[in-house]
Amino acid sequence: MHKIGIMGGTFDPIHNGHLRAAEEVREALYLDRVIFIPAGQPVLKLDKKLSSAQDRLNMCLLATAGNPHFSVSDLEIQRAGLTYTVDTILELRGLYPNAQLYFIVGTDAAETFHKWRDADKILENCCLVVVSRPGENKGEHSRNYQYLDICQMDISSTKIREAVAKGCSISYLLPEAAAQYISKHELYRDEISRFTAILAAELSRPRYQHSMSVMEEAVALGKHHGADADTLKKLEIAGLLHDCAKNWSEEMPYSQVAEICARGGYVLDGFFAKTPALAHGYMGAVLAQEKYGITDPEIISAIANHTFADQNMSFIDKIIYLSDFIEPTRAPSEDREAARQLAYKDIDKALLFVLELTIRRNLERGRNVYQKSIQAKEFLEEQNGKR
Ligand code: ATP
Ligand code: MG
Repeated sequence: MHKIGIMGGTFDPIHNGHLRAAEEVREALYLDRVIFIPAGQPVLKLDKKLSSAQDRLNMCLLATAGNPHFSVSDLEIQRAGLTYTVDTILELRGLYPNAQLYFIVGTDAAETFHKWRDADKILENCCLVVVSRPGENKGEHSRNYQYLDICQMDISSTKIREAVAKGCSISYLLPEAAAQYISKHELYRDEISRFTAILAAELSRPRYQHSMSVMEEAVALGKHHGADADTLKKLEIAGLLHDCAKNWSEEMPYSQVAEICARGGYVLDGFFAKTPALAHGYMGAVLAQEKYGITDPEIISAIANHTFADQNMSFIDKIIYLSDFIEPTRAPSEDREAARQLAYKDIDKALLFVLELTIRRNLERGRNVYQKSIQAKEFLEEQNGKR
């Protein structure tokens, strides 16, 4: 009789734990083949955000391509609504009326088996094969089941997703083709890790480190001043991206920088003609939208204002401006230390201190000072005076 193994799962992504389990069951039970069936929308994972069914299916196809005994079916993905294993088993029973079906699950999935819809009906139509998984007890499951102690691989899709999000290697946890698919399609990357990868490739090493450091400083300073989770997320992104245009602005002619800034409504005046790189904040605000897909006006504003400051700055604007000045990879100086101390005491006083210092330094060096900084300083002085 034809013996078919069925390996169901979310496969987000498929990994060597799944593949090795299927291979060992196939050998031990003399199965003719094993079909991997990625779930459409698993009932037990309704609260989790999954990768698209197509991505999960594609990874299964890539991962199993080298094994003639393995195949992949999209029948659960094609089925509308929530995925119930009983529907799958009955469908397979109809497709292969004379085959012996073996449904393979790890010990963790077996634990919850009694909760699955129509568990009895599943067992009437197939044999449950429970395979060992690290950290899980064998347990007692159901009548029609077989337990197999297999080579235990402490690999889970969760661990792989977490590793990708942190930018760590996932080599040898899953077939290389599936790992490459994850990288190419940027799966499991949150905004921060996606942006970090772009900046790491585009910015010089010190500027990249400075960006990371501004991000960390902004979050620390924001937290210190009682920012909520939503604000901290904005600080993180604005800090990371604040210099995203700096390299480009240094290489481009003024006309091009001005044209890009104008797309965001930032009209450059003659001040920038000789030093277009000074407009990198405004240009960064445009790139943040066009290249990084940022739509939040508070993040965009903080990037735009980090070089010169402005009147009426928001909390986020101020924190980014200050973090850019005080972050620890900057050359240490007494002024910087004083600014840092002040930033953790009183944001507005710190802002005024840094603005005055920057204006004074520029004047001493015979440089022009952009009027926005002067206006920002006067605005703050007036506000402080009123207090
Ligand atoms: P997640 O961490 O997202 O829950 P997972 O690694 O547990 O993912 P699933 O797609 O949930 O993978 O699992 C599908 C099936 O494969 C389940 O029956 C599960 O018990 C089994 N399985 C998963 N990983 C292993 C492993 N390392 N060894 C043996 N069986 C495994
Ligand atoms: Mg699981």
